[in-house]
Amino acid sequence: MKIDYLDKFQGSLIGVGIGDTLGYPFEGILREEIYSKFDTFENYIKSNRKLFNTYTDDTQLTLHTAQALIRGNGFNINNFINEYILWLDDPPIGPGYGCLSAIKKLKYGSDCKKASSNSGGNGTIMRISPIGLFYCRDPEGLIKTSKISSEITHSHPAASAGAIVIARAISYLLFQDPKFGFSVEEFFNVIISSISGSQDSTWREAVTILTKVKKNLHLSIEAGLIKFSQAGVKPPYFIEDYISKAFVHPYALSTVACAIFIFLKNLKSFKECLYELSTAGGDSDTVGSIGGSLAGVYHGLNNIPKDLVNLVRNNKKIIKTGQYLFATFLNRYGK
Ligand SMILES: [Mg+2]
Repeated sequence: MKIDYLDKFQGSLIGVGIGDTLGYPFEGILREEIYSKFDTFENYIKSNRKLFNTYTDDTQLTLHTAQALIRGNGFNINNFINEYILWLDDPPIGPGYGCLSAIKKLKYGSDCKKASSNSGGNGTIMRISPIGLFYCRDPEGLIKTSKISSEITHSHPAASAGAIVIARAISYLLFQDPKFGFSVEEFFNVIISSISGSQDSTWREAVTILTKVKKNLHLSIEAGLIKFSQAGVKPPYFIEDYISKAFVHPYALSTVACAIFIFLKNLKSFKECLYELSTAGGDSDTVGSIGGSLAGVYHGLNNIPKDLVNLVRNNKKIIKTGQYLFATFLNRYGK
């Protein structure tokens, strides 16, 4: 079995861009409303190209994370902070409040502990894929780096739990060949063990939610999304109106649950997987980005349809960033 790791690094990063681009027009919209707009999503994309003309903060922050790793030959907190401050000049597209407020404070000289927002939102998970790729051979370094990098902007344990789980999932999928598939049981063992054994109640809840996802893979996409759209969300954030609806809450645990659920339901086709992710409802662009990072690393760039790659703004830059990140990885860890 010969795996092209460069192809997988690039696939993961462009997967973020594709999911983000496809999902952005559907951010904050119920899944049933999204599906009332078209017969097939494929035709809808073709006849509404202008709607899908940009990615958002998910892809922007992923590129800055990759850049920080490249500059530092691995994790260096000052490089990370500086890169995230540079993001303010991009300027941010559709950013989450937690991330934006923390990074603005960092820009004006606050230290991380004071700047970090107590948000359990998705800001850290949407940008985590380069860490999952770079630390693929170093699970302990991956867990440590995912947690520290997450806490730069989000001090809430849901954010760090989600970031670790997705980074670990990416590192697992990097070594899997889509021609042969992988053991879903083993996949869950790996990602759950990355956060298990903690005394923290939110991390324990994350383990419970992931275990429920594993047990509910027989559900349809719609039924699974209804089940997990608000997983772990507590009052006053829980939205009563969305009970029994597919609308992924922008909370780390619910978004990670939904992204993993949809990814595992669509292992055969990158395209189908991305279509389902980006039309999930609610935080659609981030479900698309996170799930896209998983599907992208699993299938690799060469297995991603060119028309989807071409849909993404700056796709050449994103693919080039994957190449530089891989070169930095080789430089640090060898072949
Ligand atoms: Mg976004």
